Amino acid sequence: MIDEKHIKHFTSIVGGDNIYSDKAHLIAYSYDATRTKFEPDAVIFPRNEDDISAILKYCNEHKIVIVPRGAGSGFTGGALPSSGGIVLGFEKHMNKILEIDMKNMVAIVQPGLINMDLQRAVEAVGLFYPPDPASQDYSTIGGNVSENAGGMRAAKYGITKDYVMATRAVLPNGDIIKAGKRTIKDVAGYNISGILIASEGTLAVLSEITLRLIPKPKMTKTAMGIFPTVNAAMEAVYKTMASGITPVAMEFLDNLTIRAVEQVYSKGLPIEAGALLVTDVDGNLEDDLDFQLAQIEKVFTENGCSEFRVAMNDKEAADIWFARRNASQAITVYGSKKINEDVTVPRAVLPELLEKFYAIADKYEINIPCFGHTGDGNVHTNVMVDGKDPEQVKIAYQAIEEVFQATIDLGGTLSGEHGIGLAKAPYMKMAFTDEEMNLFKSIKKAFDPNNILNPAKMGLD
Ligand SMILES: Cc1cc2nc3c(=O)[nH]c(=O)nc-3n(C[C@H](O)[C@H](O)[C@H](O)COP(=O)(O)OP(=O)(O)OC[C@H]3O[C@@H](n4cnc5c(N)ncnc54)[C@H](O)[C@@H]3O)c2cc1C
Repeated sequence: MIDEKHIKHFTSIVGGDNIYSDKAHLIAYSYDATRTKFEPDAVIFPRNEDDISAILKYCNEHKIVIVPRGAGSGFTGGALPSSGGIVLGFEKHMNKILEIDMKNMVAIVQPGLINMDLQRAVEAVGLFYPPDPASQDYSTIGGNVSENAGGMRAAKYGITKDYVMATRAVLPNGDIIKAGKRTIKDVAGYNISGILIASEGTLAVLSEITLRLIPKPKMTKTAMGIFPTVNAAMEAVYKTMASGITPVAMEFLDNLTIRAVEQVYSKGLPIEAGALLVTDVDGNLEDDLDFQLAQIEKVFTENGCSEFRVAMNDKEAADIWFARRNASQAITVYGSKKINEDVTVPRAVLPELLEKFYAIADKYEINIPCFGHTGDGNVHTNVMVDGKDPEQVKIAYQAIEEVFQATIDLGGTLSGEHGIGLAKAPYMKMAFTDEEMNLFKSIKKAFDPNNILNPAKMGLD
């Protein structure tokens, strides 16, 4: 618990306008997208890296907990101050693009920069930052790096980690470190930037990030395949990805999801279909895009696709994407409580994975609509129940445990993009051995011996 003496000290660092402990701010910074609530003792907006350093140094000496926070759009509670303490926010001052280096094709940014602001700025000069989480309009680069966020374009372009070249960060004792360089190659020393990616604010506070940019492709085309069964669609996914072309996106909706979108939005979707695949291809030449689509159509058709629709213009492309973009909201027709996981497996076992999920749904007589980024093996698995019925909620958590076990058994991971935070911390022991967990804990201890930085997250305590 922090007191007046601490507040006075923090005020001397950042000024009175950048520290808040009034009720309205404490409530506003007590949530993330999990909708779980933990109030901090204060919210501080550092103006620069030196402020972060002075704050952390003082907190380390006084054993005050610090929780870094981006936009609070995380799905696993990573930014929640579950042990109280201080929330550190970057949206007020540390939200800028510091440099776009056209010659080396990199951007240097502050952690509070909104993903979409970066995308717009680099596209205006002909460059491209591909990671596009669905939260891109508000989530921050600091949060994206800390969760290793992915998006619809990950099938071709990869995820946040594929673009982080270097980071500046502040350690819990206040030391400032620079990890990585503006170079394509750098094999000198341990890859500290690599350790900070997806570390969920538990090791250091990111103060500056250097990101790789690529040339912006000139054009994109969209298509949709209609499949009789989920199994046929999943076979088509991994066979397409291994067929010699790489679509930008290869997104999936199952029958329950298609029906939900249709029920809510009446878009004329094929509600008898077992599954839909939505795909984008991009490039610089029309012929190349047509070649890629022809290849996808060939593999889809060989795997039972009954209809392959190519969008002829932007409106038709938006119509095709509508169902996928609105799936998450629509499936709430199946229950007031949604436990949404983002398990990920090697693509070739997707057919088996989905089969196991539907067997779990049958066993517990519940709905588990699935959709997601199947081009990178990532399935959003949504266990839907009546949140007011404690028995149903209990069943839902049993089902989730089996979803995780099935994923692990098939060589998959608990999380492809949302991280562990608080929500998945209890399941870490299913996925990692004691020896592996001990190694994680020793890394945490090396960075943060007093456990002041985002404690109780990732199953490390
Ligand atoms: C509607 C919706 C759609 C989403 N779609 C996607 C998606 O497609 N793909 C995807 O990957 N995720 C998605 N997410 C999840 C979420 O948006 C991402 O995890 C995002 O990266 C979080 O960014 P944020 O700025 O909100 O971070 P927060 O939620 O505020 O924080 C996330 C983690 O980052 C840490 N952190 C933040 N800033 C720093 C810093 N400067 N230094 C150290 N640690 C820091 C926090 O402590 C916390 O552990 C979605 C969320 C919503 C609500």
